[in-house]
Order: sequence, then structure tokens, then C-alpha cells
Amino acid sequence: MNIILFGPPGAGKGTQAAKLVDEYNLPHLSTGNIFRAAIKNETPVGLKAKSFIDAGELVPDQVVVEIVAEALEEDTYSNGCIFDGFPRTVFQAESLDKILNEKGTGKAQVIALTVPEEELVRRVLSRGEGRSDDTEESLKNRLKVYQKETAPVLAYYADRGQAKIIEGTGDVNDIFARIKSALS
Ligand code: AMP
Repeated sequence: MNIILFGPPGAGKGTQAAKLVDEYNLPHLSTGNIFRAAIKNETPVGLKAKSFIDAGELVPDQVVVEIVAEALEEDTYSNGCIFDGFPRTVFQAESLDKILNEKGTGKAQVIALTVPEEELVRRVLSRGEGRSDDTEESLKNRLKVYQKETAPVLAYYADRGQAKIIEGTGDVNDIFARIKSALS
């Protein structure tokens, strides 16, 4: 089973991904986490990604698709996974479809979390995870980039009947219950 947790920064993708990992015993694949680890370890990918991330821009598609394709080769992901923060462009969604098709692990079910923008800003600026991109300026750009580049990904999956929209406000466990009942 493949699940894509979709939504703007601060929608709760990471929080809900952790709960889904426990519930469905699937591995978590967060491109943001992969990049943060790469930056910390000063790998070539990390060096390439850092300036984009700090500015709240997307890391170029080729770089992202390559790291995801490489990760999905690992045995850990042979039964599917929980994608968090990927795909973020229609190009990435098309690339993922091809990869999943080849692997035969089934189409992805997309869970799109909706949260009003004031709440997103409040959550991100108060989450205190020490992320270099959780600044007011970077967040402003991330939200703009989300609308322009990432929101069309939801339409892409909705057109294919693969998307469910879930209200991402309220109690964390209530949101999780909504997600579970949306998954088939
Ligand atoms: P996240 O932890 O998912 O919020 O990602 C943090 C940052 O990493 C994003 O703002 C982007 O700069 C970069 N990033 C993560 N995932 C992707 C992706 N799928 N495509 C492009 N950039 C990404």
C-alpha cells in the first residue's frame, strides 16, 4: 500500500505520517527529512539542496526524483510506503506513478490535509524544531510555492480518483481517525 500525505507546510503531514507508520506498519519516506540529513552530513545532495530549502524554494525535480527512486530500490519499501512531502510538482507525481507502476506495489492513495492559512503560519512559526526554513520570510515563500507548484498535484490525483480531502484542524487523534476511514 502506498499513501501520500499531502498538504501545505504546517498541515500536519509529519505528525500524521508517524501515526500511519505505526498503524499500517509501513516505512516513512519524507524527502524533507532526507534533505535535512544530507545537509547535516554535508553530502553532495545536501550541498545542492541547502540554498533552495533555506529560501523556501523547491529543490529541483531531477534531484528529488533521483533520491526517491534510489530510496525505493531498498527492500524496506518493497510493500509500499507513506510519502510525506513528495510529490510536490506534477512532474514528480508523474515520475512516482511510473516508478510505482514498475514496482507493482499499487497506486498511491492521496490524503490531502486542509488547514486555514492563519493556522498554518501559527503552527510553523511556533513549532520550535529549529528548522532553518521555519522563518517568517521562508514560510511566506513556501506557501506561495505550494499554491503555484504543489496545489496542482492534488488536481492531478483528484482527476484520477486517487485523492481524499481531510480537514486537518482539531485534535490530532480525530484527524487520524478521519484519515483511517478515508483509506481503503
Ligand atoms: P518538508 O520537510 O517536507 O517541509 O521539506 C522542507 C523543504 O525541503 C521544502 O521546503 C523544499 O525546499 C525541500 N523539499 C522537500 N521535499 C521536496 C520535494 N518533493 N520537492 C522539492 N523540494 C522538496
